[in-house]
Amino acid sequence: MKIFNTMTRSLEELVPLEQGHVRMYTCGPTVYNAAHIGNFRTYVFEDLLRRQIKRSGYGITQVMNLTDVDDKTIRGAQEAGISLDAYTKPFKDMFFTDMDQLGIERAEHYPAATDHIEEVITLIERLVEKGYAYQSEDGSVYFSIAKFADYGRLGRIDLAGMRAGARVAHDEYEKENVADFALWKAWDAQDGPVKWDSPWGEGRPGWHIECSAMSMRYLGESFDIHTGGVDNIFPHHDDEIAQSECATGRSFVRYWMHSAHLIVNGKKMSKSAGNFYTLREILAKGYGGREVRYVLLSAHYRQQLNFTFEAVDAAKAALARVDDFTERLRLQGGDGEALPSWACEAKAAFDAAMNHDLNVPEALAAVFALVHAGNKALDQGGTGFGAGVLDMIADMDRVLGVLTKPAEVIPTEVQALLDARAAARAEKDWAGSDRLRDELAALGWTVRDTPDGQKVAKR
Ligand code: AMP
Ligand code: ZN
Repeated sequence: MKIFNTMTRSLEELVPLEQGHVRMYTCGPTVYNAAHIGNFRTYVFEDLLRRQIKRSGYGITQVMNLTDVDDKTIRGAQEAGISLDAYTKPFKDMFFTDMDQLGIERAEHYPAATDHIEEVITLIERLVEKGYAYQSEDGSVYFSIAKFADYGRLGRIDLAGMRAGARVAHDEYEKENVADFALWKAWDAQDGPVKWDSPWGEGRPGWHIECSAMSMRYLGESFDIHTGGVDNIFPHHDDEIAQSECATGRSFVRYWMHSAHLIVNGKKMSKSAGNFYTLREILAKGYGGREVRYVLLSAHYRQQLNFTFEAVDAAKAALARVDDFTERLRLQGGDGEALPSWACEAKAAFDAAMNHDLNVPEALAAVFALVHAGNKALDQGGTGFGAGVLDMIADMDRVLGVLTKPAEVIPTEVQALLDARAAARAEKDWAGSDRLRDELAALGWTVRDTPDGQKVAKR
């Protein structure tokens, strides 16, 4: 499997440190509000990566952190007048509900920063002992970027214009403001009750060190893949590299992977720009999580993707085509033995695309080539391949996670009518059966009678 490594800006073969097992860290949400679908574009990309790694036969340990203490969460809790935990808890819950709606598989670990303050302190102590970090007059501890010759390599930062000794206390800053960054922030009145004891006095961790501490805690000092959105490259990931490699003296991560942004009318979707949609806003318009997932994965992860509702409508239509096809295959059946050449070709094209840096647009082209060729074969009365092609689609869907129609939840009143209708038919009460069919139709459900019994679908 080839993946694009941001560090080398080139495609590389994925070779995990431990044979047969991939260790991967994915920067998670800052839980200060509901994530927007821009955030979810990145999480869907990471889900595809995870699924394709597993589909290729590797085991995986994936960690996604929850940033529950930083400038933004503290400000939010202060404004709401509640504790940090009380403030972040509903956003953590919302995050997992949304992940489920989008068919994103669970990672192995979701560590929260507030549960790992000890690891953070230990890591900072190592940096201070080795002379890479120092305490400033106000009590905060900073990383000295001048001490790390490789600083800024991931983001290709030009350090020429840097002012020696300049410091930046905020977690987020631009390339132009490159400076010594905060590892431990001394408590100040703005932090309210949020503080922990440390060798440097009361305070709290900076954002960057949280990810170094939690990734090393669960994955070891060196691991395979680290991902995020492109905005994480600098400073966040460069800071993580600096902290981790200076503390351990070892290479931190082998492959860095970053997804391009979801944009709206040419601008990055973000909370601060106000041009965002949450998943729940889109679902409230009557769309499904499956369609949104389709939109988010449809472009190559390294290409920007412009979000429009036309795209969600197009996704719905594309998925309806797949559903029609799989329904036809189901009706045909077959034993899944000899697969026609058009199916084998589509499968080979699909695998080649996914193994080439997750080229989803090409993989989807292979899926629709399969649908086209399969429909033609069915039109011509072809037989015997239904079950085999369905298995193939199920295998493709282990990575895409959109091709399988979610099982319809049948409301109890509908189930009661179905049961009554099955009983009527067993008694050969055809008039009763038809009457119940009309009642179901009035509720918006269509019944079909098949050799396996009644099949019901919502219109
Ligand atoms: P944050 O909660 O801001 O730390 O962002 C969480 C994740 O979402 C990070 O990996 C970001 O890179 C990513 N992200 C934020 N905005 C976008 C966007 N518009 N498109 C894609 N990814 C994004
Ligand atoms: Zn991170």
